[in-house]
Amino acid sequence: MGEPKNIDGLTELDIEAELARFEAEERAKLGLETAPKEHWVDEMTTPNFTASQRKKTTLLVGGLTLAQDFLIEGALKGIGYEVRALTEADETALRFGKEYGNRGQCNPTYFTVGNLVKELCRLRDQEGLTSEEVVERYAFLTAGACGPCRFGMYVTEYRKALRDAGFDGFRVLLFQQTGGFKQATGEELGLVLNPNFFITVGKAIFTGDVINLMGYRLRPYEVEPGSVDAAIEAVKKDVYESLQNGKSVYAALWRGRKRLEAVKIDRMKAKPKVAVIGEFWAMTTEGDGNYHLQRFLEQEGAEVGIQVLAATLLYNLWEFRHDTTARLELRGADQSKFGLAGSDAGLTLGGLYFAELALRMWWQSYAKILGLTGFVLPDMDEVARAGHSHYNVELRGGEGHLEVAKLILNVVKQKAHMTVSVKPFGCMPSSGVSDGVQSVITELYPEAIFCPVETSGDGAVNFYSRVQMYLFKARQRAREEFDKTLADEGVTEAQLRAFLESPAGKRFASNLRVPPHVSAGTTTDLIREIAPYAKANGALGRAKVRATVTAKSAKKWVEKDGKRWLTFGREMSPYLPAIARFVGKELAEQVEQKAPSVTKAWTRVFDRATKLSAEEEAQVRAAEIAAATAPIPTEKKKPQGLPVVA
Ligand code: SF4
Repeated sequence: MGEPKNIDGLTELDIEAELARFEAEERAKLGLETAPKEHWVDEMTTPNFTASQRKKTTLLVGGLTLAQDFLIEGALKGIGYEVRALTEADETALRFGKEYGNRGQCNPTYFTVGNLVKELCRLRDQEGLTSEEVVERYAFLTAGACGPCRFGMYVTEYRKALRDAGFDGFRVLLFQQTGGFKQATGEELGLVLNPNFFITVGKAIFTGDVINLMGYRLRPYEVEPGSVDAAIEAVKKDVYESLQNGKSVYAALWRGRKRLEAVKIDRMKAKPKVAVIGEFWAMTTEGDGNYHLQRFLEQEGAEVGIQVLAATLLYNLWEFRHDTTARLELRGADQSKFGLAGSDAGLTLGGLYFAELALRMWWQSYAKILGLTGFVLPDMDEVARAGHSHYNVELRGGEGHLEVAKLILNVVKQKAHMTVSVKPFGCMPSSGVSDGVQSVITELYPEAIFCPVETSGDGAVNFYSRVQMYLFKARQRAREEFDKTLADEGVTEAQLRAFLESPAGKRFASNLRVPPHVSAGTTTDLIREIAPYAKANGALGRAKVRATVTAKSAKKWVEKDGKRWLTFGREMSPYLPAIARFVGKELAEQVEQKAPSVTKAWTRVFDRATKLSAEEEAQVRAAEIAAATAPIPTEKKKPQGLPVVA
């Protein structure tokens, strides 16, 4: 033992010295002192993928929903890449991830990294390619971020596992999640991250979102089992081919609308609505990574409310806008990468509002064409307000404040009977932080049926039984709500069924129609909507009901949506002059250069707005070089010893 020091009656033990002594003894025992030290160094920070290799290289993609991975494959093929979507990550992928990954990773890391290694091993062991051929002919495309959770380490983890699995040098190509359109680029690069690339990927992601939502909306009420899945598969295939062949996605969605409309459904069923929230990958995947949670819930009789990828992009925009607004105060004092010194902050903020507006309109255009009515993308300011009082919005990583806010809004706005929060084993932000806060939320909102579940990959029975336990309560609540609504409206189920089958009720029975939201259950909303019509006396009576409903809806729109758009416009308006100046300057320059076509003009304005400046490009390169050449710290700062009571 080291010599204890006596300070004011407390004996201070030099723990660092004790630990160092213990470590030295153990190292000597194990013979580690003589073994050469080999540190892991990521040597592949700039993977070599050139334009000339594009035709000979297959890009592997994966990690989103089945629909989105599939559609991204079609979309990227349409702009000249050879692409193949990986199959959904399963148990075998988890085993590969655990075998070749670092210890102590979170579950999504194991699943996603393992899924890539699994596929490369399949190419080698079943298709007979050598490891060198796999490395030469394939590359993996994924999103990256700077953290702060393990997401920031994914790319390094991929490279480490690939090296250990025998695929040293395999190319993992990265686009920065937080970089948006501003990515390092260059014509000589194999992967050209230009606006066309992002618009193409956006088409695949957004159409995937709306197709998924339609599937989850209709499947619980289908009359013929499997009919919705068959229609959804046909829609996906049609959209895929349109993306691949450069045809109109809108036309494909319109044909999809007709297919979905033709499926027979019965909405007069008291089904619990279950919102699935949690960590991004765990709540999004549809495979073993969350034990096929969405399908399990449907089999158990629930209607599932999924999260859409567009909401994650809106959150990223909100983060950028929030941080830029906070940085306005700092200006010259803030010399960091995103500092505003010397930049046009008004243009940045205006651009962010404009980007949000464009994203919402783009997404809704797909939704409306496919027939997805009544779905509103979340208002991120409202989400932030709801979450902030319990989870500081400055805390980032994982889902940040979103998980907490979603639970609150689900309860307060009666969006679902039950909320399942999926937490991957080992997740820092979700299990480590949000879960602690959620216990306070459930105390404040005792009516919430909240089921947090952890996915470790090997505990399916426990997982299912926990979900079933909560689902029992949700089912009861849905049934009570159904019976109470019938009683309140003074109608019977048989009466409403008869009305839906009558010519007057036909339009309410349409698959694409969604009743106005009042309560958690879709069916109870439908009862509220059609009961007045079913009770009305003849055509004149129904016309009176219709007039009253139209007036009420218009009032509600003005009070709610109109107000929201007004606020949005008011917030955006101070930045409009900056946008107008920018666009005006660009257009004036172009007119001077012989007035190009409208498409060319728009492309150039867009390009200028989104491309990295030479200075930013240099910053990215410098940061990459600094990260790659940073010395590995050898000396630790010695902390003070802890006081120990003698
Ligand atoms: S949010 Fe959690 S599960 Fe997801 S990458 Fe970060 S640490 Fe892993």
